[in-house]
Amino acid sequence: MRIPDSDFGRRTDDVNHPSLEIHRYPHPVLARRAEPVESIDDELRGLVTAMIETMYAADGVGLAAPQIGISRRLFVADPRRTEDPEPQVFINPEIRLEGDLVPFEEGCLSIPDVRVTVRRPEVATIVATGLDGERFELTDDDFAARVWQHEFDHLDGVLIVDRMSPRDRLAHRRTLKEMRAAFESGDRGA
Ligand code: ZN
Repeated sequence: MRIPDSDFGRRTDDVNHPSLEIHRYPHPVLARRAEPVESIDDELRGLVTAMIETMYAADGVGLAAPQIGISRRLFVADPRRTEDPEPQVFINPEIRLEGDLVPFEEGCLSIPDVRVTVRRPEVATIVATGLDGERFELTDDDFAARVWQHEFDHLDGVLIVDRMSPRDRLAHRRTLKEMRAAFESGDRGA
């Protein structure tokens, strides 16, 4: 997830490794329900490191594995808007939602230039496995709850364009059509 017009961004040249390719709408991997992560090994740890760097390089506050073409239930996030990076890793997460639906404008690294108002429950409790293999639980009623829900959606193949209002659908119709055309013609927006 990306916050529109945020001052959260970190500069690309702060990052040491090349970024992973972020797949864009309408790549089919983004619409697929991801499979559970089966083991936490060196390969997964390396992937997580690369995902975190890619998230920061793209000025994102969250990045899910399907966005980099890996259909596994895993995402990274850093919803705190502070100078010191504090990325968190969520493996095989489960989410519980409560409270009123709250509208908020969201962006997505897989759908550049599209910002839509998405209504989501205010409170989220997430249970996930960390890189240490331990299950942990977090609850939030603010921005982190928003980011977790956005990233969790990616694991179920759901994008913000699947949740947008008819008004936003109309507003972004042309942009999305152009993205579909670009994808069809083989320019996948790498
Ligand atoms: Zn997204």
